[in-house]
Amino acid sequence: MENRMVLEMERHLSRQPVAECSNCHTEFYQGDEEVVIYDGEHFCDRQCLSEHLLENADFWEVEL
Ligand SMILES: [Zn+2]
Repeated sequence: MENRMVLEMERHLSRQPVAECSNCHTEFYQGDEEVVIYDGEHFCDRQCLSEHLLENADFWEVEL
């Protein structure tokens, strides 16, 4: 079990993801283009960040 994990790691060593998008779980690699960091979390771009914020926001939709 442990040996297999080591082999897996060596195989992926050159392209280890350093983080992933908290919204769509896209993996980010060292040397990638710009990512957005908000509150210690990584996002692909503003679109992903706003989707994530909306999903986690405390709001109600009401009829006036
Ligand atoms: Zn994303």
